[in-house]
Amino acid sequence: MDLPPELGEVTISREGATTVLRGPGSPREVLPPDEAALRRHVRVDPRGRYRPLSGARTLPGGWQVETGAALSLERAIEAVYPLALTHMRLHAEGTLRIVTLDAVLSRQTGRYEASANLSPERRALAARLLCGQCVRVPVWDGEECGATRIPCPEPCSVLVSLCREAAFWDDEPPEPAPVDPAIAFAAFDQPGNELREAYLAARAAGPSERTVPHG
Ligand code: SF4
Repeated sequence: MDLPPELGEVTISREGATTVLRGPGSPREVLPPDEAALRRHVRVDPRGRYRPLSGARTLPGGWQVETGAALSLERAIEAVYPLALTHMRLHAEGTLRIVTLDAVLSRQTGRYEASANLSPERRALAARLLCGQCVRVPVWDGEECGATRIPCPEPCSVLVSLCREAAFWDDEPPEPAPVDPAIAFAAFDQPGNELREAYLAARAAGPSERTVPHG
């Protein structure tokens, strides 16, 4: 598969006989060509918070890794964006299997069963806010995805978690709080969580404020 020079937040440059994968910003650190080490490196954002959403636009910056015999370009991309190349290939072939948010929420059991109580309008709001922070394109939601972007075929567990919390907020609307960037990305139950506060603000603002572009 021909890869674009930019994929999500990484850049891919052919330099002589090698291909270099770089994170955002100016490279200062050369990582070893080791898939597990790269995976560990990109699972923490610049604030030191765990990144539960691999596609979140919070990749740590300032690193590069030289790909080749020890670490192929494909494996390096897999470490940063799991399944991205598989989904891109299947999407290009027209065989990517799509699962809707309604289908995902309706099959939840146990702790996440309550997510199905969220109304269609608020499911859409949760999806727009979260997917707007992600490099993947929610083709499950009907978004168009060009050949240089990463299609997302099925709502992720982070979105299910946000829908679950949002369903509880319908029952007991919480007070808004100032955004606290130190709070974990997916800690939606904690006042000050960035997505929680964005959701509560958009919900309070009404339908005209609910359109948030996907990333
Ligand atoms: S559902 Fe949205 S946030 Fe989750 S991986 Fe897909 S595009 Fe990203």
